[in-house]
Amino acid sequence: MPEPDKRELIALFEYARPRVIQSMELRHCPHSGFFNAVDEQCIFCHQGMECIWMNRNDSLVALEEKSVEELKQQLLIAVDFVDANLTPHHLSRRKCDCDNCTWLRKVEETLARF
Ligand SMILES: [Zn+2]
Repeated sequence: MPEPDKRELIALFEYARPRVIQSMELRHCPHSGFFNAVDEQCIFCHQGMECIWMNRNDSLVALEEKSVEELKQQLLIAVDFVDANLTPHHLSRRKCDCDNCTWLRKVEETLARF
């Protein structure tokens, strides 16, 4: 059965992925951002959350097989990452037209319809 709504959620991941990668510091990562569950360094890494998110949601993962609930959860986590990287200047989002704020508003509007 086709689920057009799910595709709408998946489209929002396209913007989130490069943002999450940008917020990570991969210079010192021995795995180039690929989370390794058996490496202690990964488990105690301060970038653990972003890293796990990327490994659950990168372009190699079949998002269309996830449930709407799961997609919503993962999007909300991405919203936190993008939000955390915004300067106070962006906090009055209604007036800001930058890519981040536009995306955050779009996620908010889309999630409100589910
Ligand atoms: Zn902004």
